[in-house]
Amino acid sequence: MSEAVHIKGGRLIDGTGAAPVDADVLTVGDQIVAVGPEAASHRDAANATVVDATAKTVMPGLIDCHVHSTFDDVSSNDELFFHREPAMVTLTAAQNMQKLLRAGVTSFVDPDTAHGVGPALRDAIEAGVVEGPRMATGVQALLTAVGGTAGRLIPDEGTVGYAQIVNSIDEIVMWTRRHIKHGADWIKIHATGSIPGRSGELLVWSLDELKASCDTAHALGVPVMAHCRSSESVLAAAQAGVDLILHASFIDDDGLQAVLDSGATICPTFTFLANLADFGESVGASPGMEAIFRGEISATAKMMRKAYDAGVRIVCGSESGFALTPYGHWHGRELEVFVDQLELTPLEAITCATRNGAWAMRMDGELGTIEVDKRADVVVVDGDPLADIAVLNDRRRLDAVVSRGRLVDLDRPWPTRGNLPGWRVGNWASEILTWDRAYGER
Ligand SMILES: [Zn+2]
Repeated sequence: MSEAVHIKGGRLIDGTGAAPVDADVLTVGDQIVAVGPEAASHRDAANATVVDATAKTVMPGLIDCHVHSTFDDVSSNDELFFHREPAMVTLTAAQNMQKLLRAGVTSFVDPDTAHGVGPALRDAIEAGVVEGPRMATGVQALLTAVGGTAGRLIPDEGTVGYAQIVNSIDEIVMWTRRHIKHGADWIKIHATGSIPGRSGELLVWSLDELKASCDTAHALGVPVMAHCRSSESVLAAAQAGVDLILHASFIDDDGLQAVLDSGATICPTFTFLANLADFGESVGASPGMEAIFRGEISATAKMMRKAYDAGVRIVCGSESGFALTPYGHWHGRELEVFVDQLELTPLEAITCATRNGAWAMRMDGELGTIEVDKRADVVVVDGDPLADIAVLNDRRRLDAVVSRGRLVDLDRPWPTRGNLPGWRVGNWASEILTWDRAYGER
């Protein structure tokens, strides 16, 4: 018989955007079977495990729409592209997935995975081989030879790490189809790239190239997302039919109109920038970056608010998987930025991180809200996120996580590991040892 969980006495934020109510929740297997007074009288309540949520908040598990499950909290492109072989990538990802679940993330979207292991990881989670949240995944990111944020580290052709280089419309069509054949829930395009010596990121795909991937994917029923960190890339992506725009940095009025016309969803992913701006110095990030990222956040946030008011679907993503956004630590931070910078209400921010995220999981209407017949992903938070949204980014406040109807063990020690030979790139030194530095002025 399926496991039943009865969450009693809590204040329910159901994820639909409705005001909170006092209500019990009963789950049986991977299904919510009763919400409200019916929960206690339901025939399965007698055998249920009881979670006492008195004076606590009950809400849907978080859906993080931008996680790099295979990056293992990486600290440089060099490490990411050239120090990671497939078997260890997969093994470490399996360990890291526990951290997401134990931070209240019950679903996540991974745009692109190192060595394309995403579909295997997703299937292993689904089959219970690996403990983790529900996963919707891409295979690798499609990059033109000038694409990506790794500049000249990206080869002119072929495959490296999470990147698949495409150099013609024929290759775009071929790799879009191959990724779908290998189990992609999403196709990922890196629409902008960094060119050494040029500031910001530039659009490095033509409109026809973007369209070629979108049309090919859509014909096979698969949506497309694109990393867009310039206003022109947002415009082009929306015009080409991209379904989910990541970052949408510097989106302007033309871009917003194109997004409204196409119906694209936006995942702004401020968390990485916000962490770098606020805490970068404390972990030795390159100085001078703080102001740049703060500027990007405030410029983009204003337009994002405009997009939200115009009815664009906004989802939450943390970009976890980097040293500045380690797994299990920052999945609630995006909601704080939504409240502080976009001036959404905490309730609106929660809807972005729950109901709206279900769309990116390709489970719209099945997931992300606490209603009868929805999937059984529920968290209990010791605190009131409507009074202080930051409680959702504090794992210590998480009292219970129900994932697919099963209670996650939050009492085990947090996953750790020892040294993996050759895995991390060690720097010889962070500064250059000149004679003056060693001996001072003489
Ligand atoms: Zn990303």
